[in-house]
Amino acid sequence: MNTKLLPVSPESIAEAGEIIRAGGLVGFPTETVYGLGANALDGDAVRRIFEAKGRPGDNPLITHVASEEEIAPLITGGVSPAARALMDAFWPGPMTLIFPKSDAIPPEVSAGLSTVGIRMPSHPAARALIRAAQRPIAAPSANRSGRPSPTTARHVLDDMDGRIPLILDGGPCEVGVESTVIDVTGDVPRVLRPGGVTPEMIAKACGAVEVDGAVMRPLKEGEQPRSPGMKYRHYAPEGDLTIFEGENGAVAAAIRARYDAAPDGSAAILALPGHEALYGARRVFPLGAADTAESVAAALFALLRRLDDERVKHIFSEAVDSSGVGLAVMNRLSRAAAFHIEKV
Ligand code: AMP
Ligand code: MG
Repeated sequence: MNTKLLPVSPESIAEAGEIIRAGGLVGFPTETVYGLGANALDGDAVRRIFEAKGRPGDNPLITHVASEEEIAPLITGGVSPAARALMDAFWPGPMTLIFPKSDAIPPEVSAGLSTVGIRMPSHPAARALIRAAQRPIAAPSANRSGRPSPTTARHVLDDMDGRIPLILDGGPCEVGVESTVIDVTGDVPRVLRPGGVTPEMIAKACGAVEVDGAVMRPLKEGEQPRSPGMKYRHYAPEGDLTIFEGENGAVAAAIRARYDAAPDGSAAILALPGHEALYGARRVFPLGAADTAESVAAALFALLRRLDDERVKHIFSEAVDSSGVGLAVMNRLSRAAAFHIEKV
């Protein structure tokens, strides 16, 4: 299959909508990361997503809508007051809510679960595509399974060339990490995966929030995660990654020592902007353009891909403060490091 890469335009959106209606796949930009979309109401179309990504069949997909009217047929049991408050505060935007699903959602989308994740993205191209398709769109991130999520159309092409007919290029993604996944089937909203909508923001909007324990630690032996995606080693660079946590000076000293002990040319350091000088002439990649969690999030996945491109074998990273969007950054970074975190 020949993969076309087209800038977002009324014509390319119309073509993409046709492909989705015909049961095909399209790579498209959202404010979080690039998605790989199919008609959410067509199990055969959705199965093609799993094939193109090499995604395990027990990892459910998020269903994307452009307006609230589209949700009622997809869920059962209605919208709780807490869910309502979250929808009013953060949709359209980088937030997915988990509801009990209706029969309209095929088992391929929910991976056999009785629930479905729904999101209303804010990116104009994503919204235009859903409208052009005239259907809800099931979409995971548009990477091959196990690779960092794509934050540019080029990343999608690197992973999906020859596997899908069309990628819409809308430039780099603004948030850079995947949506916040919140289970609203219980009494208190529970964050299953942190993202651009932070626990602090959720608590402010609806009064209470819980963060699932599996967000910041590895699963225990035999533990069934509430979010099946937590089982998988996402975002894994080819080199081994170690994170150092502690006071700035102590972290820098520990990283310098480990870098210097690694074979020549095999190592790199990930440091917050402003910290480069702590590492002298060693090879440093900045974590983002500014010392804010938002900036680190926006640049993180492109950085992980670059480390693979440059075949870095040993990666030593500073930790990021886990307040606000920092929780999403540390969740992704910790998983990329297979939880190799050293406290210094
Ligand atoms: P991706 O679209 O690649 O970002 O992956 C979607 C994420 O949402 C995965 O981590 C899933 O495990 C999670 N997810 C999707 N649907 C559900 C659901 N019904 N219940 C719990 N987690 C879900
Ligand atoms: Mg993904």
